[in-house]
Amino acid sequence: MSDYVNVAKIFGENVFNDTVMQERLPKKVYAKLKTVIREGGELDLETADVIAHEMKEWAIEKGATHFTHWFQPLTGFTAEKHDSFITAPKENGKVLMSFSGKELIKGESDASSFPSGGLRATFEARGYTAWDFTSPAFVRQDAAGATLCIPTAFCSYTGEALDQKTPLLRSMEAINKQALRLIRLFGNTTSKKVVPSVGAEQEYFLIDAEKFRKRKDLVYTSRTLFGASPAKGQEMDDHYFGVLRQRIGAFMKDANIELWKLGVSAKTQHNEAAPAQHELAPIYAEANVAADHNQIIMQTLKMVAGRHGMKCILHEKPFAGVNGSGKHNNWSLNTDDGINLLDPGKRPHENNQFLLVLSCMLKAVDLHAGLLRESASDPGNDHRLGGNEAPPAIISVFLGEQLDDVVEQFVSKGNATHSLKGGKLEMGVSTIAGVNKDATDRNRTSPFAFTGNKFEFRMVGSRDSIAESIVVLNTIAAEAFDEACNELEQAENFDEALHELIKKNFSEHRRVVFNGNGYSDDWVEEAARRGLPNISCMVDAVQELTRDCNVAMFEKYGVFSKTELASRQEVKYENYSKTLNIEARAMINIAAKQIIPAVISYTKTLADSIIAVRTAGLDLVSVQTELLEEISSELIKAQKALKELSRLEDKVLELPEGEERARFYHDQVAPAMKALRDPIDRMETMVDKKFWPMPSYGDLMFEV
Ligand code: ADP
Ligand code: MG
Repeated sequence: MSDYVNVAKIFGENVFNDTVMQERLPKKVYAKLKTVIREGGELDLETADVIAHEMKEWAIEKGATHFTHWFQPLTGFTAEKHDSFITAPKENGKVLMSFSGKELIKGESDASSFPSGGLRATFEARGYTAWDFTSPAFVRQDAAGATLCIPTAFCSYTGEALDQKTPLLRSMEAINKQALRLIRLFGNTTSKKVVPSVGAEQEYFLIDAEKFRKRKDLVYTSRTLFGASPAKGQEMDDHYFGVLRQRIGAFMKDANIELWKLGVSAKTQHNEAAPAQHELAPIYAEANVAADHNQIIMQTLKMVAGRHGMKCILHEKPFAGVNGSGKHNNWSLNTDDGINLLDPGKRPHENNQFLLVLSCMLKAVDLHAGLLRESASDPGNDHRLGGNEAPPAIISVFLGEQLDDVVEQFVSKGNATHSLKGGKLEMGVSTIAGVNKDATDRNRTSPFAFTGNKFEFRMVGSRDSIAESIVVLNTIAAEAFDEACNELEQAENFDEALHELIKKNFSEHRRVVFNGNGYSDDWVEEAARRGLPNISCMVDAVQELTRDCNVAMFEKYGVFSKTELASRQEVKYENYSKTLNIEARAMINIAAKQIIPAVISYTKTLADSIIAVRTAGLDLVSVQTELLEEISSELIKAQKALKELSRLEDKVLELPEGEERARFYHDQVAPAMKALRDPIDRMETMVDKKFWPMPSYGDLMFEV
């Protein structure tokens, strides 16, 4: 078969990975690099020169002409500045291809082009990008040719983080230190490192590119600002796990090949709950590699969709009333010698180390629930969290029957003496063997669910970097572990102190555990009774960044300084305001120039028809008259709402940037946008389709 894919052969072929380095680098250089990767520290220039040279030679063999320091500023996208390998022409008019250790290790970038939240005075535009050698370099092949991409961190001239990677790496150091202390308490002397592992499931929509282009709202804002519900929605549940359509199948095949070449272990793919929605999940990896890979996944999905005449939409809520897209961040803690700290084993009630870790996680999540919620805040995610889908905005932990029972035993008796078993699942068909059940069922409505040997944080928005939530998880876990170790390292009777601590943590923080339906109204009330925060919007969530207890924690573990947190908060307010500003302006534009004129044309047709019927001396115009009246009444509402939205748009720009402006957008502009959308969506159901100036929800979602 001509299109046979040899996965083992192509996997990682465009990655400067360990195997390639071992093959190409002199033994001494390779050993030095490995030591720095393992133990931290700096690479000397001489070593860096050798690595850079080999990396360049390898990249050129892959067709690369340029290199770029690939980084993740606070824009939510990756950024890169391309330089070719060419050095100044020699006398003979030929060029040399060169790449030095200095160029590999450090780049300089104009930081003024990226959000800094006031960190950097505008005259001080210098920013640095520094190679993160724990995430391998790769060659990306696309329409721009082949480029050697070097994953880098990005910071200001004064060392403040301006990106997602720097705090992620810092938080990995923090959790490593505290988790090592914790496992030493249980006699582990052999593990050298504890690393957070992450598997990020990515949801996305695929839309026909031609239709996409006809929707200016999608073009400018990645979401539909207008659109009546289609005749058929997702109520038939026929899409999820449905057979992949050929066009989608071809896309996925192509995307997988591109990802495999880049060393991304794309593994699971399926349709999602909504029509035209799909998911891709790679096999989990070390947190910072997983975060980089997730960026590569998003870029690749978009690129490959283009080749197939489609658009990949990563917005959290592209279609109102239809399931939105998120990203599930599966997180666990693993030692370098293969021990998962979140593995309960067969008899969780006897696994003291696991119970301590679990009790610390409950404490961490309970104390910093608002911060965890904040890590998933994004203007797009506001349409999703708290709606009747995806996770609710209230942070709770799902433990499942078995662990909940262990916690209950601790709380009521002070220790646990047994673990519930799974048993056999009988299907009632003699030819199908009984299947062993897990002791715990799944719960898909929980924002933070324990799933076997990991936690799954389901709130992250589909477009966002997973780094933010990993930073929070790592740091809150580090704090809880640190406090536990401080107590237990001093204890005279370790076993007694351990039991006491587990019991205390479980008792004090059990309120964050919830195993029921997270989408129900009852839960909202129950959570309020328990005193759990319910932060419904981004503008409120962002305040968590500068709350005293959060600042103290981040500073203590060296993850963020207070200044960095304040700057991130500014960036987020700005991002919220900018997003809503673009959306409001796009709405005004589309309504005024496309929709209202189209409706007027249609009303003219209706009026003409009424006149024609009357002229013919007939009295049968009630349908047209009624329709004309109804449409006209909606048209008036739309025109009024349009004026009001324009007025608010002018007003908001007079407000100072930052929280005040963001709040005005949330409190005033967003409701005005809804007031404009409502009559327009109603008119869409009344106006002849031939007149409607853009494809409908049905056209977009069912005709891919
Ligand atoms: P789901 O049933 O939740 O849709 P998927 O198979 O789509 O599950 O995704 C699960 C993700 O969790 C994958 O990326 C997988 O590699 C990852 N994962 C599995 N085990 C662990 C673990 N111990 N730590 C972190 N991630 C894990
Ligand atoms: Mg999945």
